[in-house]
Amino acid sequence: MPPAPRITVIGTGYLGATQAVCMAHLGFEVLAVDVDPGKIEALASGRLPFYEPGLDTLLVDTLATGRLRFSTDFDDAAAFGDVHFVCVGTPQSSGSDAADLRYVDAAFGELARRITGRALLVGKSTVPVGTADRLAAMVREMSPAGDALELAWNPEFLREGYAVDDTLRPDRLVFGVTSAWAERMLREVFAPLVADGVPVVVADPATAELVKVAANSFLATKISFINAMAEVCEAAGADVSLLAKALSYDDRIGGRFLKPGLGFGGGCLPKDIRAFRARAEELGVSAAVTFLHEVDQINLRRRSRTVDLVRELADGELQGVRVAALGAAFKPDSDDVRDAPALDVARLLYLEGASVVVYDPQANANAHRAYPDLDYASSLAEAVNGADVVVLLTEWAEFVSADPEDMGVLVAHRRIVDGRSALDVENYRAAGWEYRALGRPAEV
Ligand code: NAD
Repeated sequence: MPPAPRITVIGTGYLGATQAVCMAHLGFEVLAVDVDPGKIEALASGRLPFYEPGLDTLLVDTLATGRLRFSTDFDDAAAFGDVHFVCVGTPQSSGSDAADLRYVDAAFGELARRITGRALLVGKSTVPVGTADRLAAMVREMSPAGDALELAWNPEFLREGYAVDDTLRPDRLVFGVTSAWAERMLREVFAPLVADGVPVVVADPATAELVKVAANSFLATKISFINAMAEVCEAAGADVSLLAKALSYDDRIGGRFLKPGLGFGGGCLPKDIRAFRARAEELGVSAAVTFLHEVDQINLRRRSRTVDLVRELADGELQGVRVAALGAAFKPDSDDVRDAPALDVARLLYLEGASVVVYDPQANANAHRAYPDLDYASSLAEAVNGADVVVLLTEWAEFVSADPEDMGVLVAHRRIVDGRSALDVENYRAAGWEYRALGRPAEV
């Protein structure tokens, strides 16, 4: 039996660190490389530089096996790996909707110019369709290994908050390959998952790239669909929560991602749908995805509508009003504040003169770095203490399970905006709270 392929992971953010730890957990020898020495130092000493449930302990456990190493050295990476997973960021470009591919180009370039033997470069980052083909040509030109260095795309679907589980038990694996050898290598690397029954779709790299952006576009559309219905409900005096519930019983529609609220954010969905539109325009098919512009706009409008509800509860004026903003992360169980609707609402309230106190169980530090002007509390009780209005922005379990009576004792006024349709309205009303939620009449 040939030895198992040795794996490198380039980029150790939310995606790459999870990939490196999980691959080592599965029994592979793994070397993970990042250009950020602080991140590498933290990871090498067993400290996760971000919050992800379960990954912290798995990092410590896998480091102890000796199978997982961290480095900033690309020479080391090029010499070590048989399969190199590129997991670097692809943020939105400043000044345009297109993806900024400079980190991807740099990572592939660093490897290509150093690798001298047979190896497989595998892109996992989310990229515009056509990127893999472009990089394959670049790599062929640069690499001393010539045709022995191949390129494949294996898009990643993990969700922050569930990253370990999603990596070890994904819904599917997509291999975008151009040779039988590349497919064989990927099958070897993912053999433990395939043996557990994870389905594999083998495709060309362009299709593989598109699967990822199509999936994110679909999810974003489903969220914005129910939020568009919320807008109509607001105008018609109907209740979007009941509407969503009734729709969810239809198997063809299903209830997941059909929850009305403040909408999507984070480091993926918003920038991915924008980059998809930009790429479609380059390909001359912009009409096929113009709806994604509406999806984006509906999503952004929920933020200003949430501010409207807070203002309404504050008798029409936000100046000097003390608002407790519960949540800053773009979703619960994450400390990620990239394009976070929660933090955006907190910022908008602050800009209207409210005195905003933010509390997030994990994201306070990241939020403070992004918006140092806001005040931050170190507990839920501290945040709501003396509040004129409380606004739920991220549905952390701690907030959803909070007792309205206990919280009511601390606030100046029992007034709450449920930006995530996550609270038990009956409990709040019974405890004397004025309760408002997106897409629902004032009195339900
Ligand atoms: P991130 O910003 O957390 O991590 C990116 C890392 O890449 C950083 O640590 C950065 O220092 C490093 N880096 C940048 N340039 C480098 C280089 N040339 N060489 C080595 N390292 C380099 O980003 P992320 O959230 O992990 O996302 C990475 C990619 O994965 C993106 O394309 C994203 O769209 C995609 N993705 C993310 C998720 C998620 O939930 N975060 C899920 C699926 C796909």
